[in-house]
Amino acid sequence: MVQHPGSVFVVSAPSGAGKSTLTQRLVASLPDLVFSVSFTTRKPRPGEVDGREYFFVDDTTFDAMVREDAFVEWVQVYANRYGTGRAWLEEMLASGRDVLLDIETTGAANLHRVIPDACMIFVLPPTAASLEERLRTRGKDSDEQIRIRLQHARHELTFYPDYDYLVINDDIERAYRQFEGIILATRARRERMAPIAQKLLEGFA
Ligand code: ADP
Ligand code: 5GP
Repeated sequence: MVQHPGSVFVVSAPSGAGKSTLTQRLVASLPDLVFSVSFTTRKPRPGEVDGREYFFVDDTTFDAMVREDAFVEWVQVYANRYGTGRAWLEEMLASGRDVLLDIETTGAANLHRVIPDACMIFVLPPTAASLEERLRTRGKDSDEQIRIRLQHARHELTFYPDYDYLVINDDIERAYRQFEGIILATRARRERMAPIAQKLLEGFA
């Protein structure tokens, strides 16, 4: 991928850790931070809108996109496939926008290989019991689905060493401030600010 003015933030978390709560709030409050809408072959859940949560596509369309190299990364999770579209991501980054991607750990590792300067953030629940409690309170899953999600959470959590930042979502306000702090600090990094500093220098000539 070519040099780009915007930054990529990859966020992964076991289901129920509070990733959606945190990312939705960040995108709503931080200017120039946009959420990457992935493509998926899974069916929309009640309340999900095409183009907002995902672009919902059929298998044939997804196959064609894979052949055309239209994904920066894509994965198969059980019977469904999920992919990050390349064209929109490149357009956002080129225009200086920061992009937040909510993707699972395998796709995140693949994306990190393509975009090595991506900022990798992992959201963790404070305890296993609180994760179960949140899944139950959210009320989206059956007992059996919760059991599978908890098993999968254990597996996902083993990937934390691949991430730059680990945000424990104990208290939502604290976790939010920490997450926001990571984004603001990344925006101030020398590599990113160097062109502005250089321009400033030229003004002194
Ligand atoms: P994810 O996107 O990671 O699957 P959600 O953002 O949907 O998780 O959060 C799962 C549930 O936990 C939701 O009902 C949400 O309101 C709740 N929740 C999120 N953060 C916290 C927190 N810090 N303390 C208690 N409950 C939380
Ligand atoms: P769900 O079906 O519950 O919306 O999402 C299931 C999982 O797929 C979540 O862990 C989510 O982060 C992940 N996911 C969503 N979009 C993408 C994507 O484009 N690429 C990858 N690798 N994972 C994704």
